[in-house]
Amino acid sequence: MHVTAARFVKSATRPAHYPAADFPEIAFAGRSNVGKSSLLNVLLQRRNLVRTSSTPGRTQLINFFILNEALSLVDLPGYGFAKVPLAVKNQWGPMVQTYLQSRPTLAALVLLFDIRREPRPDDLQLLDWLEQYQVPTIAVITKADKVGRSQWIARRKAIAEAAGLPVDAFTLFSAQTRQGCDELWERMQVALEQ
Ligand code: GDP
Repeated sequence: MHVTAARFVKSATRPAHYPAADFPEIAFAGRSNVGKSSLLNVLLQRRNLVRTSSTPGRTQLINFFILNEALSLVDLPGYGFAKVPLAVKNQWGPMVQTYLQSRPTLAALVLLFDIRREPRPDDLQLLDWLEQYQVPTIAVITKADKVGRSQWIARRKAIAEAAGLPVDAFTLFSAQTRQGCDELWERMQVALEQ
């Protein structure tokens, strides 16, 4: 997709503060440090529109962006960061579940996994909610450049098995080499057309 315009719209924690649901929407989620901001900046073709490595402990927000005045991309707060205060940690589940249930324009959620790590219980919890709320899931393995090419197939298989998803559901991605960017856009396009 050729991005001619990308803009941040607003941050919100609850539906009353979400921007109007004017465009089809795709959300992005993953553990803190998985590479979500980096991936979003690659997709948005902006160097730093999405802040990388948000400071843990800060209030967690849902950030809304609009592309080409046609598509809404949503950056959900990262999860699983050990140092986040319990009060902040406890807000994450209800905030994300409410978002998944209440956004009529949500076409799919892109769930990110780090190629070097196994999926954790909070990743599996999110997958359960996606199934429960019938949100189509696009699975991405980030930081593919961090391991040798010879390990790609084995890492993808291990992550897919632990996540309980088919291997071919996963796109291998790298923000550094931009590997997987076109494939991810294609998968998003398919989800938008459903
Ligand atoms: P977020 O917390 O999920 O938003 O993660 P960030 O996008 O801030 O990335 C966390 C760290 O991983 C940063 O130091 C990034 O530079 C690095 N990173 C993200 N994506 C990639 C990638 O594809 N390849 C490599 N080598 N590093 C990456």
